[in-house]
Amino acid sequence: MTFIARADDHTVSVSTLPARAWWPALKRGFQGRCPSCGEGKLFRAYLKVNDCCPACGEELHHHRADDAPPYVTILVVAHIIGAAMLFVEERDENVALWIHAIVWPTVTLALSLWLLPRFKGALIAYQWALRMHGFETVPPKAERPGRIS
Ligand SMILES: [Zn+2]
Repeated sequence: MTFIARADDHTVSVSTLPARAWWPALKRGFQGRCPSCGEGKLFRAYLKVNDCCPACGEELHHHRADDAPPYVTILVVAHIIGAAMLFVEERDENVALWIHAIVWPTVTLALSLWLLPRFKGALIAYQWALRMHGFETVPPKAERPGRIS
């Protein structure tokens, strides 16, 4: 059981904090929205995460996405592009090589750049929902279970 310290010098067990629904949070993160309220923007730039949600003030700087978003992006894009290349090759063996040389790298780059911030947002939201890393800190008053004093 993990205990965390509150500012007023009382301790709260993480397991006593209310569970956060991970699926809605994941969808909000995928859309680049705050996992807590779904209103504020998660990113202030392409992959730069806001320190706090501009709408609800939820702290977002605790995330540890690290290299998981690129890993997931590569995993997904490689399977999609690999399957698409095999499909095209099976359908028509006479597609010119220069078309393959232009289409697949372009589609791979575009899909990767589109998916990367979405996967990063979803992973951060998942960390938030599971109270990983710094996200286990004491929630706002509205979310606290009972009064502890
Ligand atoms: Zn928010």
